[in-house]
Amino acid sequence: MDSDVLIIGGGVIGLSIARELAFDHTVTVVERGRCGEEASSAAAGMLGAQAEAYGDDQFFRACIESREMFPELAASLFEETGIDVGLDRKGTLLLSFSEADIAARSERFAWQKAAGFEIEQLSATELRREEPFISTDVLGGFYLPNDGQIDNRKLVEALRRSCESRGVNIVEDTAIERLAVAGGKVTGAFAGEAKFSADNVVLAAGAWGTQIDAGFDLPFVIKPMRGQMLQFRTAKRLFDHVIVGQRGYIVPRSDGRVLSGATMDDAGFDESVTNEATARLIESTTEISPSLGALKVQDVWTGFRPFAPDRMPVLGRVPNAENVLLALGHFRNGILLSPVTAKYIADEIRGVGSIPADFSPSRFYSAAAA
Ligand SMILES: Cc1cc2nc3c(=O)[nH]c(=O)nc-3n(C[C@H](O)[C@H](O)[C@H](O)COP(=O)(O)OP(=O)(O)OC[C@H]3O[C@@H](n4cnc5c(N)ncnc54)[C@H](O)[C@@H]3O)c2cc1C
Repeated sequence: MDSDVLIIGGGVIGLSIARELAFDHTVTVVERGRCGEEASSAAAGMLGAQAEAYGDDQFFRACIESREMFPELAASLFEETGIDVGLDRKGTLLLSFSEADIAARSERFAWQKAAGFEIEQLSATELRREEPFISTDVLGGFYLPNDGQIDNRKLVEALRRSCESRGVNIVEDTAIERLAVAGGKVTGAFAGEAKFSADNVVLAAGAWGTQIDAGFDLPFVIKPMRGQMLQFRTAKRLFDHVIVGQRGYIVPRSDGRVLSGATMDDAGFDESVTNEATARLIESTTEISPSLGALKVQDVWTGFRPFAPDRMPVLGRVPNAENVLLALGHFRNGILLSPVTAKYIADEIRGVGSIPADFSPSRFYSAAAA
């Protein structure tokens, strides 16, 4: 099956790239299972560009750029598919339960303030005015008005529908096992006897990204970082903001669901939900809001965040196979980074624009050579 672009992996990253390129290319997405059902569905959907940042670097700037792309993306997905992806820009609150934590966060966010990014320090009274159901043990905190959330499951559903209406060929229940390489180019991708070929091949297989036999040297491994999540449900929405405590966070959806997350377990591809993690998540949730302690856990799940050795995204062409691009390693922020990743990869294929150097796969090749 021939296309201009073959995308291996139909998560939020693969689908976002496919949708973007479908304007001017024939695109095939090959997905091992069903599109969007792995990490992209497991996520909490926080758009935490500022909450997750520790320094003013290319990663932070990409997160900010991507966050600002969501209003237009959500509007255009709604127009094309009728699906409201639940973009919510009411902001994120960070709660502190000790003076030491307030001081540490204040220092941590000082550079963001200095660089002109909106952030407000709030007293305990101000926080409780915003969120009456939070713990009375809260001593103070911070408000990031421009971070927010999206319903990531609706996002992948809308991306998939939009891809279909833009003519993307989506092939599910088909795992690519190996790539064939000749003359420094990938000439085909094989799923059993089925062969897919394309001018450009984008590897977007998430935590499984380096398990495919690529046929050329990939001097790094993408690994899974398991995250376990819980879901509660309240009769009506009790919280307006994404709320980050000292040991976990809650993400309130508009229909009363409250997601609580998430663990970071280096446990390979073990999908288990553990009792220990469930207990820890219940504890961190009730620390944020004791009223949630009276509810029963409605759902639990796990997902695998894809991470590279330096925990940074790996985006762009590889030096040793000219028509292969990687879109891997989005780790904790793949939902947030999906629109900008699509732009970077599509621009690279179109031969316009450039991907920030910090994300280039060549960093691993030069390290290996040294
Ligand atoms: C618990 C948890 C909470 C998170 N919370 C957030 C959050 O709040 N905000 C945020 O921005 N990010 C969050 N993330 C991270 C985010 O979910 C990921 O970074 C993102 O989903 C990665 O997208 P992806 O498309 O690369 O991977 P995936 O969604 O895993 O998609 C990869 C796809 O490739 C397919 N595939 C694998 N091998 C093959 C093969 N051989 N052939 C064909 N297809 C193949 C898989 O079946 C899968 O569908 C969270 C993750 C977890 C687990």
